[in-house]
Amino acid sequence: MHILNVGLSIIALSFAARSLACSEVNCRPGRAVARDVVAVLENGSPRIGDLPPTCSTPQTASPPAVEPEVDELDEESRRIAEHPWNQTRGRANCEEPGAKDPKFEVLEVNPGYFILRQNKCTNFEAPFIYIMLGPDGAFMHDSGAGGEGVNEELLRIVDRIVGDRPLTVGHGHSHGDHVAGDSALRNRPNTRVIGAGAAAATAAYGITSWPTGQGQINLGGGRIIDVLPIPGHASDSVAFYDRQSGDMLTGDSLYPGNVFVSAPEQFAASNRRLWEFTARNNVRNVLGSHIEMTDRPGVNWPYPHSDHSTSEHSLVLRRRHICQLSLASNPRSPVPTNTNGSAVPGCNPPYTQAEVGAIAAQEQANGRQLEDGEIRFRDFLVPWFN
Ligand SMILES: [Zn+2]
Repeated sequence: MHILNVGLSIIALSFAARSLACSEVNCRPGRAVARDVVAVLENGSPRIGDLPPTCSTPQTASPPAVEPEVDELDEESRRIAEHPWNQTRGRANCEEPGAKDPKFEVLEVNPGYFILRQNKCTNFEAPFIYIMLGPDGAFMHDSGAGGEGVNEELLRIVDRIVGDRPLTVGHGHSHGDHVAGDSALRNRPNTRVIGAGAAAATAAYGITSWPTGQGQINLGGGRIIDVLPIPGHASDSVAFYDRQSGDMLTGDSLYPGNVFVSAPEQFAASNRRLWEFTARNNVRNVLGSHIEMTDRPGVNWPYPHSDHSTSEHSLVLRRRHICQLSLASNPRSPVPTNTNGSAVPGCNPPYTQAEVGAIAAQEQANGRQLEDGEIRFRDFLVPWFN
């Protein structure tokens, strides 16, 4: 994340854990059980996820009339979800020899889809960058947070992956930790760098009307990336939906950690539209630009946090998290549903007051005080399945 909006109220949305609802633990015997759940059951350590179960459905009850969510990750998604980012999670001492190298860790999801992460020792934001290839062009989502030698190494990686395809460099939004490589990329041959601001995005992607319309990037061969305006974190935030992989890139508007919102009403409307799009399309994974949460659901690394994350939440979120984001930011609206009106499994109502209290206590124990106006909602850290 990056906070630039001086003078605007900034509201942190914490993706805190819900109780171990029986939908995961008790109600679906035989399915794979999340590692986090197993860990809690084994070591019994107290945490937010130990709040009393909210699901009262007995195990023998008929299944509810909902569209089942495919919780199981496909092989590619599992590769993303389980990648430990060992080379770029930082070090206890970032000044020790070699700690800042490599500047980026590259995960090849498949030969046309790459995820880069900047080394936390070069910048604590440790943002993710996504590169997608088609026969007619390449798309790069964000250009990193900069730092000594960072852009040089980024260019070498981009050259290796993209080659001489025409490259479009777009951004989830224009905060500094997402655009620092732009200056270097602007001098790269056959490369177009989209500028900051809603007007630039509207023009570059052919967005029909900001923020309610959408645009696209066509990489050829049927690989189209839809671009959806989602202002709220920043005034020029957009989400990118890759029709080929089904993955939705949500930037700083949704990732495992606190989300900072500069314009709550815009954010709420954006999340409604984002859910409506998600309900109509086959969204496989929801991938943000940071991981700021530990591997214990609801427990974040302090922000601005240390140089070092010893254990991290998985990068991969799912469509139910977009549903929850919409629900949590539109508390007076009906619970979002699938297009056929069925419920979205795991898309639960916001926390009760008691649960908010427990989360606040946990945050305080973590060294962070909840501030006035912070919105909290349940289940941003649903443990996912192996
Ligand atoms: Zn950021």
